[in-house]
This record gives sequence, structure tokens and C-alpha cells, in this order.
Amino acid sequence: MYSLDETLQQRLRERARLAGMDEEAMLASLLNEALSKESQGHSLYISAPVNALVEGLYREDTTIADILQQGDFGIGTFNDLDGEMVVCDGVVYQLRADGQAYAVSPDTRTPFACVTFFTPYSEEEIQGPLDYPELLALFDRMLPSHNMLYAIRVTGEFDYVRTRSVPRQEAYRPLVEVAREQPEFEFAQVKGTLVGFWTPQFMESVAVPGYHLHFITADKQHGGHLLNCRPRRVRIAIQHIPQLQLGLPMTLDYLTADLTRDTHDDLQEAEH
Ligand code: ZN
Repeated sequence: MYSLDETLQQRLRERARLAGMDEEAMLASLLNEALSKESQGHSLYISAPVNALVEGLYREDTTIADILQQGDFGIGTFNDLDGEMVVCDGVVYQLRADGQAYAVSPDTRTPFACVTFFTPYSEEEIQGPLDYPELLALFDRMLPSHNMLYAIRVTGEFDYVRTRSVPRQEAYRPLVEVAREQPEFEFAQVKGTLVGFWTPQFMESVAVPGYHLHFITADKQHGGHLLNCRPRRVRIAIQHIPQLQLGLPMTLDYLTADLTRDTHDDLQEAEH
């Protein structure tokens, strides 16, 4: 029906081999991905309002397969709050409380994830070193307006990175309590990537406001929710996102939860 040139055929064979799929299935999956990217028109997909997570709703029905339909880049967590999520180049990593990264099966579920198809409009090389406040100030200068959503990726060498990863939880324990006892990890002279978003303050019931970044090492073995870092030599890539698509879960817990409380203080403490 169609014929591909030799180079494309080779690349397709290689991708299929890596994914353990036959070529036809790989081709169908790539086409589907390309076409859904097109129709997404750069929106940020958030699988559930973060308010629900703050109130201890740690189980929803959204699968990792669902998430990957909505984006190839982003962050989140897993059901039972079992670690921090990083989605990078269409691969999902689970950074558990033991400090290790795990591969994630498509039927794994998430109570909260934010993803987009990453197509940066602005890139900058930084010959550091920068401390964390200086990095955030640099982001601030790169964002044309703080009333928009942005995806942010920072790749390169860091003198120092400090992260944390949430330990697996029983449902209904308020997030702010859980956050007080999460293990932290420090990395020195490490290569890796920060993945995350800027969310305007007025969206704080929907997503974590301000800069929310997760870190994964270049060897994809370690990382977590970013607490502090000092980049040395990095490339910063930023994409502005003019649309938000918000999932509202259909679980009984979600449908019957009281989400009227002001969760501002809890979220500030839990996420920063
Ligand atoms: Zn986080």
C-alpha cells in the first residue's frame, strides 16, 4: 500500500526491535502517536485535580497507558502514592522511596499526573554554576507571562541535586502528614534531567502552583521530586502551553469526597 525509503525502514525495524513489537504494530503505534500529537494542539493534561491528592485520595483508575496517550513528558505519582513519576521521551519511570527508578507497566494506575507532548519554543545553554534561586530567577526571565502554563526541561551536569520520594501509603492519610516523613536523596557531580512545569498560582486546586520539577539521573536509575539543585552546565528548554485538559475521576471515592476545604497551606508544605 505504501512504501518507505530504506532509512525509514531501518529506523522502523530498530524501533520495533527495541519495543519488542512487530514492524506493522510499531508503525501503527507511531502513526497513532503522531496524529494524536497533532490533535492535542499543545495542551497540558492533568489526570485529576491535585486537591483530591492533598485530601488523601491516592487511588484512581487512570492508567499509564491513558497518560501516554496524552503526552510524552511530565510528572506525577502512582496509586497508593508509591513513588514519584517522571515521563521523559515517552518513557515512564517510577522513583520509589528506596531511591531507585523502576520500569512501569502500562496498566499501572495513577491518582495524579500532568503530561504534555513536549515541543520547546525556547532553549538556552547555561555555563554555570548557578544556585537554585538563580535557576528559578532564570526561568522567570524565560517565561513571557506567568499567567500561562509551561513545560520545562533542564538537561546536563549538576554540582548538586537534592530530591525526595514519597513512600507507599494507605489511602486517606492527608498528604501533608505523609510529606513530613519522606526519604531524601542527595547527588553530587551528577548528570541528569529536570522535568516539570510552571503553573500559575490561581490554578492551585488543580495542580501544584509555581515550579514543580522532578529529577532523573542520566542513567535513568535514580531521582525524585526536586527540593534543591545547583546546575553546572545545562540546556534549558521551555514550551508554553495555552490549554488545560483536566480529568475528573469517576471513582466512588472521588465522586463522594468533600473537596471544599482550602488546601493552600497543606499543598505549600507538602510540595516545597
Ligand atoms: Zn512532585
